[in-house]
Amino acid sequence: MSVELSVHGLTKVHAGQSVAALDAVDLTVPPGSCTAILGPSGSGKSTALRLIAGLDSPSAGTVRIDGREINDVAAENRGVGMVFQRPMLFPHMSVLDNIGFAYRAAGDSRKRSRERAREYLDLVHLGDIGSRAVSEVSGGQAQRVALARSLAGSPKVLLLDEPFSALDPVLRSEMHDLVLELRATLDQTLLLVTHDQQEAAVLADSVAVLIDGRLEHHSAIGVAYTRPSTLAVSRLMGGMNEIEGRWDGVGIHRSELGEMEVEGVSLPAGPAVLLLRHELITLNDNGIRGVVSDLRPTGFRSVAEVTVGSLAVKVELAAGSVVRMGDAVGLDIPGGARSVVTG
Ligand code: ADP
Ligand code: MG
Repeated sequence: MSVELSVHGLTKVHAGQSVAALDAVDLTVPPGSCTAILGPSGSGKSTALRLIAGLDSPSAGTVRIDGREINDVAAENRGVGMVFQRPMLFPHMSVLDNIGFAYRAAGDSRKRSRERAREYLDLVHLGDIGSRAVSEVSGGQAQRVALARSLAGSPKVLLLDEPFSALDPVLRSEMHDLVLELRATLDQTLLLVTHDQQEAAVLADSVAVLIDGRLEHHSAIGVAYTRPSTLAVSRLMGGMNEIEGRWDGVGIHRSELGEMEVEGVSLPAGPAVLLLRHELITLNDNGIRGVVSDLRPTGFRSVAEVTVGSLAVKVELAAGSVVRMGDAVGLDIPGGARSVVTG
């Protein structure tokens, strides 16, 4: 049975610090689901995971599993496994003994702990390298061993702290496939810290965004792109267009771009920033008139900057687009590309 992981008012002021690394965070990860925590470096992501794992204790707030507080439960008894960015294997032990370490520590014979570990070795597709010294395995294999080691404790909750960020893109994508496969076979509840929006999109059901220790956004990933709760969240999600203006408190944002209707905004009237998702804007002769003032390849696609008055609006162009510098174009900004936040 999968469990629900939740934290309530979770706060950590590290020794010697005056500001909280984690500030009253409330977050619930439903049973068997995966939530990705995104946030800039230093925003408190690792702190959150360490508090949940019991590697560090909170200054305030609670960690709960299925509603039961576990603040006073020792790390090894929480049923929580953790994988770090570096595999942190025991260098003098074989692959199999690394995976079976917890069984051995709990009193199993060497033979028995290896037998039990072998199952997890197979699960991460490393069946034939069990007897190898960990110093002889590649970086990708080492991270698989670390994953197997954390799974061998049969944790109900698995915490992954940027576990694949040191791997090259091909290995990373293989690890994503592996995690998806494990999610289909096992029943863990996952909390994944990542820098990589792509990784969050592939693996997670929802994204939680931490900014300066505060949880500023929690939603499905698509919503984080198109309806970020704050400017900081928009920037973290790669948002490029921020247009200063005024929100009328009802449904219209006014700026140099004109009147823009935005649905589903619950902000009072006042100064507000209109956000336009560059991937969703298209060029259309009937749209808002502007001139292409910059063109930048981003790989397969490219981003055009379209000058409208004193504004510069970024638009992502499809591969093979024939737009050129100096072209007069029209911007078609669909409702789904628009959102409004306070400045
Ligand atoms: P992230 O994982 O998002 O990069 P961290 O949780 O590691 O961020 O750190 C959040 C903040 O807490 C940072 O300002 C960091 O310097 C500080 N911090 C983390 N661990 C400690 C510690 N053990 N002692 C003091 N400050 C810490
Ligand atoms: Mg970290």
